[in-house]
Amino acid sequence: MVKDAQNYALAHENKKYCSINSIILVLISNPYLSNCQIDIMRCLLILQLAVLLASCSDDRRLNVRQISPPGPITLVIHGGAGTILRSEMSPEREKEYTDKLLAALDSGFAILHGGGKSLDAVIAAIKVMEDSPLFNAGKGAVFTHDGRNEMDASIMDGSDLMAGAVAGVTTIKNPIVAAHAVMMKSKHVLMAGKGAEQFAEEEGLEIVPPSYFFDSARYRQLQRAKNPGKETSSIGQDRKFGTVGCVALDRYGNLAAGTSTGGMTNKKYGRVGDSPIIGAGTYAKNGTCAVSGTGWGEYFIRLNVAYDVSALMEYGGLSLDKAADSVIMKKLKGMGGEGGLIGLDRQGRVAMTFCTEGMYRGYITKKGQGKTFIYRD
Ligand code: ASP
Repeated sequence: MVKDAQNYALAHENKKYCSINSIILVLISNPYLSNCQIDIMRCLLILQLAVLLASCSDDRRLNVRQISPPGPITLVIHGGAGTILRSEMSPEREKEYTDKLLAALDSGFAILHGGGKSLDAVIAAIKVMEDSPLFNAGKGAVFTHDGRNEMDASIMDGSDLMAGAVAGVTTIKNPIVAAHAVMMKSKHVLMAGKGAEQFAEEEGLEIVPPSYFFDSARYRQLQRAKNPGKETSSIGQDRKFGTVGCVALDRYGNLAAGTSTGGMTNKKYGRVGDSPIIGAGTYAKNGTCAVSGTGWGEYFIRLNVAYDVSALMEYGGLSLDKAADSVIMKKLKGMGGEGGLIGLDRQGRVAMTFCTEGMYRGYITKKGQGKTFIYRD
């Protein structure tokens, strides 16, 4: 809130100095002024420019390249991209997904609507999906090659670039909560394996036995991935990336992003994907956008997908839509990767871009009416 007020004050001040300078310039060009008067005008001009420069460096410190009023509260989620075909989906199954996506949207939106922070809204929405076996995160996490469930998650605050993440955890019920704890309660950004689990326990987070994550449908997925038959993909027959993610904009103009996943079915021991890597699977910066990705993690890491969207906006001047399109449809696809992302900018503009057949996704804005989508059309 305070930062927001400062941003507007700065923008207002800058405009004021620009118009005063223009008046001085016009006066100096007046041929009837004496030399002394011109000197005074010149001094004034230099003084104004110095003040303007000083306020610009304040501007940079506050990380606000685009000074414009924030848009309405908005929350966007994804539940993974992949081969999601209408022809393979029963109406009952489709309803299950739609209902759960709507529940996640509502839960995050309730926080934004009540004046809460985008960071808390992201956690609330992701927790709903982590607690459901429908998505590849938390309860529904996929199996590793060794038949374990190893989860990754990360979260980032766009207002100050603070971030937290956990990787390869097996006993934390809600990895997104642990990622947040790393950000808030430690000096670190990423904690992995046993250390992350010990930290979560010490912080009083909910710990469950690894068997909590067992799901027979996911286990069958692993068996199919291990015996791919005709399928040539190295990630097996079920080419769905059920990772979950959320990006949100609160009423204070702050963006946040979070991502949580079980990784990829049949992944090898210790494999970590993009989801807990800040800049690859998750990124948020108030001056540009908040992004959460889903897809073939190795490509997302190599392309720095989430940060690249932000960088294209910051340095290339692209809109969110164009930046997301360029990264997913050109770079990712061009390299042979697969997946998608959700993005949100400070004006509340939403991007839901993917190069797979479908992506579970949805958004909710100030009207409070969630909209969900699954397929490409
Ligand atoms: N990106 C995740 C990973 O590679 C998988 C997914 O999105 O479902 O770990």
